[in-house]
Amino acid sequence: MASVGNPGQQRPENVSQAGTGPIRSSILERPVQFLRGVGPHRAKILAEMGIQTVADLVMYFPFRFEEQPRPQTIESLRLDEPATVIGRVESVKSRRGCGRFGPSVLNVILRDGTGRMRVTWFNADYLSDRIQRGQVLRVFGKVGVEGDLGQLTNPKVEWLDSDDDPADWDFGRLVPIYRACGHLASGQIARIVASVLDEAVAVISEPLPAWLLRRRELPSRGTAITAMHRPQTLEEIAPARRRLAYEELLLMQLAVTLRRGWAARNLQAPPLPTSEKVNLRIRRRFPFALTESQNRVIREIVADLARTRPMTRLLQGDVGSGKTVVALYAALVTVANHRQCAILAPTEVLASQHHASIEKYLAGSRVRRCLLTGRTAKAARRQALDAIARGEMDLVVGTQALLETTICFPSLGLVIVDEQHKFGVIQRATLKNTPLAGETTGPPAVPHYLVMTATPIPRTLSMTVFGDLDVSVIDKLPPGRQPITTRMITPRQEPDAWSAVRRRIASGDQAYVVYPLVEESDALDLKAATAEVDRVAHELLPGTRVGLLHGRMKKHEKATVMQDFIEHRLDVLVSTTVIEVGVDVPNATIMVVQHAERYGLSALHQLRGRVGRGSKPSACLLMSEGRGGLAARRLKVLCQTTDGFKIAEEDLALRGPGELLGTRQHGFPEFLVANLVEDVDLLMKARDDAARIVREDAGLRRPHHVVLKAELRRKFRDKIALIDVG
Ligand code: ADP
Ligand code: MG
Repeated sequence: MASVGNPGQQRPENVSQAGTGPIRSSILERPVQFLRGVGPHRAKILAEMGIQTVADLVMYFPFRFEEQPRPQTIESLRLDEPATVIGRVESVKSRRGCGRFGPSVLNVILRDGTGRMRVTWFNADYLSDRIQRGQVLRVFGKVGVEGDLGQLTNPKVEWLDSDDDPADWDFGRLVPIYRACGHLASGQIARIVASVLDEAVAVISEPLPAWLLRRRELPSRGTAITAMHRPQTLEEIAPARRRLAYEELLLMQLAVTLRRGWAARNLQAPPLPTSEKVNLRIRRRFPFALTESQNRVIREIVADLARTRPMTRLLQGDVGSGKTVVALYAALVTVANHRQCAILAPTEVLASQHHASIEKYLAGSRVRRCLLTGRTAKAARRQALDAIARGEMDLVVGTQALLETTICFPSLGLVIVDEQHKFGVIQRATLKNTPLAGETTGPPAVPHYLVMTATPIPRTLSMTVFGDLDVSVIDKLPPGRQPITTRMITPRQEPDAWSAVRRRIASGDQAYVVYPLVEESDALDLKAATAEVDRVAHELLPGTRVGLLHGRMKKHEKATVMQDFIEHRLDVLVSTTVIEVGVDVPNATIMVVQHAERYGLSALHQLRGRVGRGSKPSACLLMSEGRGGLAARRLKVLCQTTDGFKIAEEDLALRGPGELLGTRQHGFPEFLVANLVEDVDLLMKARDDAARIVREDAGLRRPHHVVLKAELRRKFRDKIALIDVG
């Protein structure tokens, strides 16, 4: 399809001189609504697809191409083969079928130098006005036969200019197929794109410096965008896609590298060194030897704490891998340096549990410590706050919401944030700077940060999304862990499963029953869940003490139910929520997950980690319909391995990063083209290149980085503070 030029219009001003600042070119910023063939109605549909401007439009790529072969003569057509034919309309007949309800039929006879053929459309009233005798059409479809004539039924059609030399049309073609939306069909999108593509590409800027394009053998941005919509051959598409994916990855890597560099230059934390004496004193607190993994991450953390550069470290470790111990180690190093440490948990239950396990290790210690949650009595809270403000409290465990809003620490050295409930959505708020009182000269002083997550995050993901965090991984569980047997349960096996649960409860164990709610706020769903509790209590597990936990309960109601379960006043906890996955009830040895197929694998793996925490072997029963299909294949992975990283990789491959991480909430734009599973090699290259660029030109001030910088600003605007890139 020849693109529609706009000869009358003046060329967009030439803007691409390096060093003249960000490129502003009218065509790219033009709202699509004012394009030919787009009105308010279509503009609305396009907006729903995320397309507002021409720049957005040209980045909306076809997802496949239809190969139309070179035109052939009517004489040479072969039955049942796809064919392109160019011919002149000899006659047009349009008629309604039998009665009012039959299909309408449009019959056209086409002729070329070698013969005649019939072209038939059913129910294509929109064509009957447009096809007229004498026109030259290019049609593409599968060849059939009708009477003594060859025939194409419902072919793709295009009108050619009858003055053209037929030789000009003598080529095959790749027709882009765009994902349709609403009443906007692929063909219409194709026409809209084609109408501006050349004009837009002519002024599109090239953010990548020339040496990078050469080094990575990448086509220019304009060439790549053109090839994505209108490739000459299918082979052109891969390098074009690669180029655009690389650009996305490079920008992301640059953003995280710059942010990291900014923090390194502009923020200072109190150095918290560890002596051998302190090390031994801390280790004596633990009734076991630390594992190899724990020791390794402790070395990493200790080295960070000793520096004035603020630590921003992500501590990853599967459920039960012993993160709390590592966190406490870091906390005690801080206290040994006469600095305060805050441990933030997302919920009251988790905060209480952290506090309880820390109490266990710190029994008899002189460390001044307290727990602060919404349930802390007013007087006690005031007392604690005063002590903290006077610097007479060393270690504070509390809920994130509470501590972030109400507390003033005079000498905060370390903040530990437990994020384990969120499946790895790291809160950026944790990187917020909390200036230390009384330290107003020099760079702003901030505490060190340690963020704990139980979601094993595949390396490719943590590099892109958390590229500015250092990552420590506890990759081995402490010894003596009881195995968890995971099994898939079909509807037919359910009675057996429930009797297994009854047997466990009869022998004094406790059980979790997890019931997924798609939308926790949905009253209907909640009703279903409540009914399910009744069914569990009365039909499936009669005579047991059953409690319900769901997301719409008030905080203190939740905490009460949890406490009842922890203290074994309940045998069964039916939970419609995953909020409380950090809970640690060693006596719970069996878990039933209903509709297991509705969860992501990583979420299930986390849930499963609630059992197997005591001295008895545990079981996780995944109830799900059917054994076939993708859902079952995914669940099988869970039955076969307890390696959280393997499971996360599988999740990433099967469902993509958005699902696994909730990256959208994270504030980073999703990739349009790059794919973190397939483009790992590109990602590594982008990371190297980003590091090199920042090393050579940290402020991106050189002329050949101007466009790159503008692009970074445009893309990340306020998502991340590229503060230094002024
Ligand atoms: P996480 O927070 O990573 O889920 P925890 O720190 O709660 O894991 O540890 C889980 C359990 O393992 C706790 O009961 C803890 O006492 C125990 N544990 C931790 N480290 C060790 C170790 N090195 N040896 C034996 N047991 C350990
Ligand atoms: Mg823990």
